[in-house]
Amino acid sequence: MPARQSSPPRAARRAAALVLSVLLAACGHRSADATPATATSSSARTASDTPAPAAAAPVAAAPSAGSAAANPQGRIPVLEYHVIGAAKNTLYSRTLDSFKNDLETAYRLGYRPITVAQMLDKDFRDVPAGMSPVVLVFDDASPSQFRYIDRGNGRLDIDPASATGVLVDFNRRHPDWKLRGTYCLLNGGAAGHNFFGDAPPKDPSKFDGQRREWRFPKVQWLAKNGFELCDHTIWHAKLNKYSDAVVQQQIAGNLMGIDSAVPGYRVRTMALPYGLWPKNRPLAWQGSWTDPKTGQAHPYNFQAVLEVAGGPARSPYDPAFNPHSISRIEAIGNDIPNQLERLAKTNGRFVR
Ligand SMILES: [Zn+2]
Repeated sequence: MPARQSSPPRAARRAAALVLSVLLAACGHRSADATPATATSSSARTASDTPAPAAAAPVAAAPSAGSAAANPQGRIPVLEYHVIGAAKNTLYSRTLDSFKNDLETAYRLGYRPITVAQMLDKDFRDVPAGMSPVVLVFDDASPSQFRYIDRGNGRLDIDPASATGVLVDFNRRHPDWKLRGTYCLLNGGAAGHNFFGDAPPKDPSKFDGQRREWRFPKVQWLAKNGFELCDHTIWHAKLNKYSDAVVQQQIAGNLMGIDSAVPGYRVRTMALPYGLWPKNRPLAWQGSWTDPKTGQAHPYNFQAVLEVAGGPARSPYDPAFNPHSISRIEAIGNDIPNQLERLAKTNGRFVR
């Protein structure tokens, strides 16, 4: 299965679409989230009071252990998500129902989640024998991926209608689906794409009400709960457009932001904004930026670079595996459930 490369017109379309998704995250989102408490408490109830036979049937039918023969050189689907909880599915947004359906499909077909870092380490302990790994990647750090609900008196709950809330709920109902995923962060993007929302004190309702002071707690929560933090530049820079110096500043600056939130955290993965490579390709994974104010050097060295497309990724056991070019499956239409199904049916997938 040849890797599909994204052509320049597609990249340009992507750029236009991201602007749109930024706008969606900032405002279009509101209507969908106008009644989060009601909408989510009812769906959460259906979920936890399980034995509603119709809904529970496919889950109950899922095997508790896999039966497929081991295939360590098979493909691993690395799924790429942007805005979650939009009114409809577009190139950069997915409805809550479609996202939940992706998870149910993956679960039913015997996939279990790991991070990119685990893939690099050939660490498949979270995948029972006979089952297959899947990697969920969330790009751009929008509020839709990690939203808090302020309950007052300092209590913050993860909104069950945000991607992270959906994953927490899914793990509660399926404990063998661990809290695993890779979040490719921005720490200075426009329209709240800054560690999931940076509404200032004077305008606290901006960006789905996601306050500036909640940024670090969110990033810390992810690191503490089994998720991987990934570099995606400061503000989603098109790395092909800039000098080597700016490329390194964009990448190192994001790393510094992550280090401020989680001191000492070792970032091992970076995702190319729009899938665009810097002119000096190796700078995507290795470089250094010296802060002119302090004279201090900020080096970086990642093991993995994520492409924006290309289909299911090669296994780390595949001799052709290139960790500096890991392909992904974009959340477009039904591509994700279809690819998961196809990989399972054709025995093309990695099986532990
Ligand atoms: Zn992105």
